[in-house]
Amino acid sequence: MSVAPREIYLDANATTPVLPAVANAAYQAMLAEFGNPSSVHSRGLPAKAMMDKVRQQASRWLGASKGRILFTSGATEGIQTAVLSALTNLRARRADGQVIPSLLLYGATEHKAVPEALNHWNQLLGLNLDVRSIPVNQNGLHDLDFIRTHARDAGLVCTMAGNNETGVISDLKGIEAALSGSSALWMVDGVQALGKLPLKLDQTRIDYAPFSGHKLYAPKGIGMLYVRAGAPFTPLIVGGGQESGARSGTENMSGIAALGAVFEALESGLVFKEHDVLQSYRQQLLDALYQSFPGLVLNAPLAGSLPTTVNFSVPGLSSKDIMDVFDAAGIRVSAGSACGASKALPSYVLQAMGVPDWQAASAVRMSFGPATDQVFIDEACLLIKRCGNAMRESGMIADAAHSSDIDGISQFRADGVCSWLIADRQSACCVVIDPVASLVPKLTQVIQAAHLSVLAVLDTHGHADHHSAATHFSSLLAPGFLHESRDILGWPSTGIQVTHKQGMTLPAIKLGRKYLARLATPGHTADSVTYLLGESADAFIAQAAFCGDMILTGGMGRTDFASSSTADLYASLQMLGRVAEPNTILCPTHDYDNLLVTTLATEGEIQPLIQAVLAGLSSEAHFSERKMRLDQGLPEPTGTTILCGTREAVPSIAGISIPAAEVARFVEVNPDTLLLDVREQAEHLAGTPLAPHGCSMLSVPLGRIVNALAGGLLNPNRPILVFCRSGNRSAQVVQCLRRLGWRNVWQLSGGAAFWPASLS
Ligand code: PLP
Repeated sequence: MSVAPREIYLDANATTPVLPAVANAAYQAMLAEFGNPSSVHSRGLPAKAMMDKVRQQASRWLGASKGRILFTSGATEGIQTAVLSALTNLRARRADGQVIPSLLLYGATEHKAVPEALNHWNQLLGLNLDVRSIPVNQNGLHDLDFIRTHARDAGLVCTMAGNNETGVISDLKGIEAALSGSSALWMVDGVQALGKLPLKLDQTRIDYAPFSGHKLYAPKGIGMLYVRAGAPFTPLIVGGGQESGARSGTENMSGIAALGAVFEALESGLVFKEHDVLQSYRQQLLDALYQSFPGLVLNAPLAGSLPTTVNFSVPGLSSKDIMDVFDAAGIRVSAGSACGASKALPSYVLQAMGVPDWQAASAVRMSFGPATDQVFIDEACLLIKRCGNAMRESGMIADAAHSSDIDGISQFRADGVCSWLIADRQSACCVVIDPVASLVPKLTQVIQAAHLSVLAVLDTHGHADHHSAATHFSSLLAPGFLHESRDILGWPSTGIQVTHKQGMTLPAIKLGRKYLARLATPGHTADSVTYLLGESADAFIAQAAFCGDMILTGGMGRTDFASSSTADLYASLQMLGRVAEPNTILCPTHDYDNLLVTTLATEGEIQPLIQAVLAGLSSEAHFSERKMRLDQGLPEPTGTTILCGTREAVPSIAGISIPAAEVARFVEVNPDTLLLDVREQAEHLAGTPLAPHGCSMLSVPLGRIVNALAGGLLNPNRPILVFCRSGNRSAQVVQCLRRLGWRNVWQLSGGAAFWPASLS
């Protein structure tokens, strides 16, 4: 368990804290000047005066004396209003018999609110225009030729001033020039530019510009929309006629007062730092990052981006790896936009810029507000370095000065595919099974950090859904490796054999005291094999079986490929049933549902067909007929993201969480509770360790749960309370163990941040 000394909040592009003076202004508007600005009595008049003053301040700051400023609930509302206004105007022109432009254009890296609003209103208003994205180049800048080409056919063009994920500053002058001669209306999302870039709206042809208070130290729920004088306008909200009928509903007076305090701070020049100071802050953060993370790359050029944003990637580390360790140290960053943070998808912004897949999967956005000071940056740099050291010490980053001590089996996962590493610390050797290209940097990192030599890089079969990275990976590790005598799946001719306790002999690789034996298990494909990890050469018992796609968590490998055979799969299942124990840990190549690992006993319960084969109750003909029917429900085996097998719907097990408030009681009732921390070692090292009062604690990172299970390191009869940072990893572990039949395993609801103070 660990807590951070102080929070270093570096996610200002998602939202900012409210400055004390700003909070105070909001408080006063609620407490003392609570009048309704529409009331004409003496309580309402000062409220109206305050609102007018803030509107003037906004208008001054934005250089927008000729247009209107409306107060909204935020930028998303401003975007809707702008899009609705423009599209209603187009519809009216069409109804008048005019030929209207056919395109609605938006930048490929816009905030999702923009394309969503365009599609929504386009459909709702029955316009059915062609909504098209404007490509960006590798620097994130709009393709001006594209705009120029399509400008005359565009009814509305939406671009942003500064990008929330990368900080890239748009070339608004270039876009304006590209729009010359076009009648298109133009919306510019100014959210990330406010307070960071000068915007002289009067001097542009911009028709609409939405802004949001919570990105610049005001509370959430207040925003503004600039509308150029003469630009078409349709209210989104009608009612009492507030905002001169442009936006009904009693105004958010505390929010408006807060915005007023933000403009006061901007106008005073005392609170927010100048551009070059902010740039020097960012450079200091970058220096700390470069020092801590070798090989770090930037995902957008610094020149031409907001001085308060940096978006970077580190080879071998996923966004989540970095964010988990940063969070443990108290540094809050994000992998992209906050709106997309709960979805584990690569950033569409980086994809639009053509950033390589690994970079998009590793991207981290660090952003700070313009009111940041030097003390904060110094602390941030110290903590960044602390994270780098923690990652080096734990082997997440390879470093000549440190040697990590990984031992046994580790599971690595990317997009539902698993790669496995079997390490033997004593002999400093390892074997890799089913390396996936996107995991190669991480596997390389781990192997190098532990100074392991690689005995074999194996595939369980020729994969149909993804290219094996075995050849590429082998050549990375040892240039001579490929020339040694190996079969097509990477198996070396060692001459070593193990004798299974049932008498059969199998070829094997010796890994320290352990053996990895090979068992042919054709069926899914003709070349499918299962690798078995066990200990004794003359009475071999399998502790873990790397069964490829033959058995999946809740499914079986498909048998409708040209090289598949249901008869062979039937025989292979019977063979595996003889060689493996019911509770031998099965490590499949796919884990579509985050179920980690499984066993024959568990799969037998979920999949009656497997049960029937293992119990000798199904003939080969019966199995083949049933299996073919199962495969009929699968999508065609085409493309690179095919589903590799049938899947039973595995319902997630409910009622596994213990709320933080009930932990003390749980521990009291179950004094022998084991606290199982499934965070990475680097997260412990980066945070401040705390001894959990009274309970014993074991640390097993998520990817090493397989090792604890195969090695019998966890007692299924002992109460176990699993926790991680946010509750996501612990839920996976508890679901896995419950599926394996463990009844007394629980998850700390919400994660380590909710750990009750009285227990720590
Ligand atoms: N536009 C950009 C560029 C943003 O960063 C955001 C917020 O993430 C929005 C629009 C939406 O703003 P709001 O939260 O005020 O609706």
